[in-house]
Amino acid sequence: MRAYRMTATGTARLVELPPPPIGPDQVRLQVLAAGVCHSDLHVLDAPAAMWEPPFTLGHEICGTVTDLGAGTDPGLLGRQVVVHAPYGCGRCRRCASGATNDCDRRRELPAGLGLGVDGGMADEIAVDAARLVDADGLDPAEAAALTDAGLTSYRAVAGSVDLLGDPGAVAVVIGVGGLGHLAVGVLRALTGARVVAVDTR
Ligand SMILES: [Zn+2]
Ligand SMILES: [Zn+2]
Repeated sequence: MRAYRMTATGTARLVELPPPPIGPDQVRLQVLAAGVCHSDLHVLDAPAAMWEPPFTLGHEICGTVTDLGAGTDPGLLGRQVVVHAPYGCGRCRRCASGATNDCDRRRELPAGLGLGVDGGMADEIAVDAARLVDADGLDPAEAAALTDAGLTSYRAVAGSVDLLGDPGAVAVVIGVGGLGHLAVGVLRALTGARVVAVDTR
């Protein structure tokens, strides 16, 4: 299969690799779309212990389940899914609250799929079934970006939903780039607030 891998600091190459084996509680995905995130530039240019090369890039992933590892739900076969890529130790206070991207041990452990562990810029990927979120019926390219850019914006808005339910509530989005334009959509979906978005361009 093809895989776009970070092979050394500042270097990524399209290479041929054997398809990844799947372990217990994992599934294999045929990748339909993988987002390019601004973080990928930081990963390429400033490698840290948590994203030691070589590994396949891509932490915004949408694909179809094509193979099931032992112990996984047979109903997953053929489903279109997106993947929650950030790892975490799974034990610290932040991981327990769901913020695996902000794990207390994030400087010591691989940060996630495409961030030190083989990610989604490949024809196929093996992932833990517990990381899958149903995405049937969504455009794969749009769905992939929801897992990172969308989730980041969602988190910013979700913490303020109670403040934005009042009549006359106004939300201001400062910066309408890769995250901000999604914040506008999330605000419209979750709140009745008037949305004002500003940008220098
Ligand atoms: Zn990202
Ligand atoms: Zn943790």
